[in-house]
Amino acid sequence: MASDTQLSGEEVWRASLPLLATKVSPATYDGFLTNAVVLGFSENSITLGVINEFAKDWLERHHTSVMTDCVAEVAQRPVELGIEVMPDGQDEAAAVAEAEPEPQLPPQPEPAVAAAHTPATRTARGPTVAHVPLVSDTTGELRSSPLNPKYTFENFVVADCNRFAHAAALQVAKSPGQAYNPLFIHSASGLGKTHLLQAIGHSILASRPDCKVVYISAEGFVNHMISCMRDNTIDRFRRSYRSLDVALVDDIQFIAAIEGPASEQEFFHTFNTLYETNRQVVIASDCPPRHLQLMNERLRSRLEMGIVADLRVPDVETRVAILEKKAQAEGVPVTRDILEFVAAKIESNIRVLEGALVKICAYASLNKVAITRSLVEDIISDYSTSTTERRISLPEIVALVSSELDVPEDDIVSKKRSADIAWARQVAMYLARELTDNSLARLGQYFSGRDHSTVLHSYNKVADLIEEDEQVLWLINDLRAAFE
Ligand code: ADP
Ligand code: MG
Repeated sequence: MASDTQLSGEEVWRASLPLLATKVSPATYDGFLTNAVVLGFSENSITLGVINEFAKDWLERHHTSVMTDCVAEVAQRPVELGIEVMPDGQDEAAAVAEAEPEPQLPPQPEPAVAAAHTPATRTARGPTVAHVPLVSDTTGELRSSPLNPKYTFENFVVADCNRFAHAAALQVAKSPGQAYNPLFIHSASGLGKTHLLQAIGHSILASRPDCKVVYISAEGFVNHMISCMRDNTIDRFRRSYRSLDVALVDDIQFIAAIEGPASEQEFFHTFNTLYETNRQVVIASDCPPRHLQLMNERLRSRLEMGIVADLRVPDVETRVAILEKKAQAEGVPVTRDILEFVAAKIESNIRVLEGALVKICAYASLNKVAITRSLVEDIISDYSTSTTERRISLPEIVALVSSELDVPEDDIVSKKRSADIAWARQVAMYLARELTDNSLARLGQYFSGRDHSTVLHSYNKVADLIEEDEQVLWLINDLRAAFE
């Protein structure tokens, strides 16, 4: 161990950075860690200089232990960590920013003060904000960005699977902040949460153009918050979010996953201010409030106090109706027979269902052929194979892990905790999250009623090990290959 004493503080810190990169969010890493400098280094301590008070406070409150661990790992001895604000912190930060014309921040879904008339792009797949990623805004002010013009109440097909959520959304749009506050909508992926959230936004803006409506994902909220902390604009950030009339917050399940309790806390205060002043809050999530992985019990109970509505998988008639509406809107001539065929084939996710229709229409128009049943059969059979690859079933995954790791299938989905069983279960959860469309909550349910944080924890653990341990990397590769 003594051989490491010749590493300089600078070298130790630089070697710690890649370790830290996997343990904190990109916003923290790029915003606060890469521009930290070593102010002092000795046998048993390291002092880092960071750009401002917020950076110091943030790192001290949330990342001291992980930073200490990483530095100690590199230095190969226990090291005490001190954090100080660089004497000329502001100037240094500005100098760094100038020296690096490309800001290294991750693409940030920024809060969007919804503007109904601006052109919008198609929805991206995945949990983030549905419109164009905006230029990073660290002034703390909300920025204008479009809602997807297709996500309106008119374009939403109402059926048993969504009747209650739709009615609640309509009511909220009619009298925001008065009844049904907060409104909490949850479902598996691709069933219309984002559509309903944005429909509320469109509808309110149509009748009250002066209303301050923001649609934002929880991830966008947290990233924006961190940028504003870094740039000393957090007060303005707070003021602007807390002066909204309507907050439409998508994918809340990520609120705690990104930066832990601090982002949750910030959100909680924003939420409370809005709620207590009768401003409307609508939240979408992949699981009901009681399954949210939250540290803040008060936040959870507040979320449960409002109206909680779920969206379920539509039956085949509803799927046909949705496709019909979509075909009409796009002006494509597809017969009912064909829509029924597509709707019967693709069951569980409306996004995938619509994707199939888009593909059929694109094929027909590119190749200048009519949309016939046999053409669709061809395209769909292609399409289904490519989606079944992603829609591998949970029992298949468990069976494979069972045979590969020699742990009985029943044990994998049991509550047993012995090390080999727990490991097999973690691997199965990892694969299930990677290869299927199930929400964390659903996966938790499948694995013997565990909650969604356990699945997330298992997933992260295996993901970390893949990076660290070649054996695990190969194991996961082999298992994945079995499904290709
Ligand atoms: P989620 O946010 O739940 O993942 P989205 O709101 O993004 O799902 O919906 C996925 C796609 O399905 C969108 O294109 C949306 O317009 C469409 N969709 C979902 N539900 C309906 C519905 N009831 N009527 C019409 N289109 C729908
Ligand atoms: Mg969504």
